[in-house]
Amino acid sequence: MEPSRQENSATTLTLGQRVERLRQIQNVTRSGLATRIGRSEDWLTAVEEDRQDVTMFENLALAVNLKVTPRGMREGDTEEVKQLLGSIERDNALEGTARIRALHSRNEHTGTCEECSKRDYPDYAVPYPCPTIEALDG
Ligand SMILES: [Zn+2]
Repeated sequence: MEPSRQENSATTLTLGQRVERLRQIQNVTRSGLATRIGRSEDWLTAVEEDRQDVTMFENLALAVNLKVTPRGMREGDTEEVKQLLGSIERDNALEGTARIRALHSRNEHTGTCEECSKRDYPDYAVPYPCPTIEALDG
């Protein structure tokens, strides 16, 4: 839990950075987002680099497509935007955890950790749960 860092990451971004970050964490390409809001990729590039002013209507279109309120899009300091950026960071952390768990799985036959037991020499065995899994489980 690092609420202060998440607050900073949401509020200190420029509009362009906010657009870019929200777009990237939602896996939307620049051309994909530009198409959805009826603008060119060059226009969106300029917006993301803070070289292009955004009208109220364009801000609304960006907000709708990036799943935030118009005010959150424009100002970035709303709870909603902070929570969105925060929840996505948490989701990414959970995804990472799931990947580690999948890697450090229990071998049904030997009862050892697949990942930790595969290195060094053939009969090197680390019982499951290995230290990595124990660390994840706290
Ligand atoms: Zn392991």
